[in-house]
Amino acid sequence: MNIIMLGVPGAGKGTISKELHEKYNLPHISTGDIFRENIKNNTELGKLAKSYIDTGKLVPDDVTINIVVDRLKREDCKDGFILDGFPRNIIQADGLKKALSANNKKIDVVILVDGDVDKIIKRLSGRRVCEKCGTPYHIETLRPKVDGVCDTCGGKIIQRKDDSEEVILDRINVYNEQTKPLIDYYKKDNLLKSVDGLAKIEDVVKQVEDITGLR
Ligand code: ADP
Ligand code: ZN
Repeated sequence: MNIIMLGVPGAGKGTISKELHEKYNLPHISTGDIFRENIKNNTELGKLAKSYIDTGKLVPDDVTINIVVDRLKREDCKDGFILDGFPRNIIQADGLKKALSANNKKIDVVILVDGDVDKIIKRLSGRRVCEKCGTPYHIETLRPKVDGVCDTCGGKIIQRKDDSEEVILDRINVYNEQTKPLIDYYKKDNLLKSVDGLAKIEDVVKQVEDITGLR
């Protein structure tokens, strides 16, 4: 099953994708995680991506599309994948469609993680993340067993720089202008399904399982 997770920053795309990855072993491809990994390792891509990410802008499309297309060529994607945070605009969506169809593949479903945007933004400021492995946490709703320490890898739990108040607003603007049009784009292709991003994580995962038939 080839899945796209769509939704406003903080809606829970990453958290849901990680759950599905663990349960069903589908590769979880998060462009944000790929960029952050490269920033941490100070690669050329990381140096390029950093200025965009820190200010809430999109990393240029050609760079981003190439990364995803390369990643999708890997063996582990042959029986399906979860794209989280990609595509983020029409150009990326067209690029993806083209690359997939060149390999006789297609997207099976686009999951819109939906919900009241004001509530989601509020939740964003409580978001924390493992510095080392990227596992998401929340100061109220998704706490680690030991304060400040990642359950999965023992890494340090931090707040992302772009989860600061000013950058959040910039990211929401980018979402509204560039990403939101993808809702209609995928509606036209009859691929769009919505889940409630404000529900409890296990309930959202159930909703995705109902939609996709994953069990
Ligand atoms: P969120 O969905 O919470 O905003 P992500 O980890 O998906 O978090 O994205 C963080 C940042 O990484 C974005 O604000 C953007 O700068 C960059 N980024 C992620 N995915 C893309 C993409 N598909 N195209 C361009 N930039 C991206
Ligand atoms: Zn960790």
